[in-house]
Amino acid sequence: MDDVTRVAVDELDQWLDGLQIVLAVMASGDLEEATRWVAKLPSVSFEKRRWRGPSWERREGPAAPAPIREQVLQRDQYACRYCTRRILHHRVAAYLTAHFPRELPYSFNMPEADAPSRLHTHFGFVRTIPEVDHVVPNGGNDLNNLVTACTPCNNYKGNRLPEEIPDMALRVIEPPGWDGLYRLYLQAGRRLPQPGSRATYGHAPTK
Ligand SMILES: [Zn+2]
Repeated sequence: MDDVTRVAVDELDQWLDGLQIVLAVMASGDLEEATRWVAKLPSVSFEKRRWRGPSWERREGPAAPAPIREQVLQRDQYACRYCTRRILHHRVAAYLTAHFPRELPYSFNMPEADAPSRLHTHFGFVRTIPEVDHVVPNGGNDLNNLVTACTPCNNYKGNRLPEEIPDMALRVIEPPGWDGLYRLYLQAGRRLPQPGSRATYGHAPTK
């Protein structure tokens, strides 16, 4: 990996640690204090080399069904199996952007008509959206053929095998003990529900 990538990964780690604090403060019910922490989040730069838009816009074949994707993400503890970078549970971005639309914009889920506004998605979210990659493209939805991938890695890999790409390897990772901030999101949501949403916040899985 080149220097640009390494710097970006450090930034992203600090940004994720900051989001963890924001959600913990929200779980205590203090939105004002959380807003102060949001203002202190480090900026995240754009990693142009690996960004070609979210993979679902590139139509590389059908995604694995949602329950299978969830199994894969939980097995890999929300870490990319190619770069080992931590990623977020998919509900966290929607929750944070509903509370902080200007500081933490996330708009991939906009309807087609609003497509230009997708460009306003925070780079941190661009790089931490959970994706599930077919290691062997069109190799089926067997769990052995599915791995958690961050959007930049999934993008970069495309329809190739990992061994076809010089700087890319499938890694056996130490379980990072990371849940994509899902438990903190549930706790925060019970104190400060997502504005404009009827989401329910069940009990977080014990672990
Ligand atoms: Zn990755």
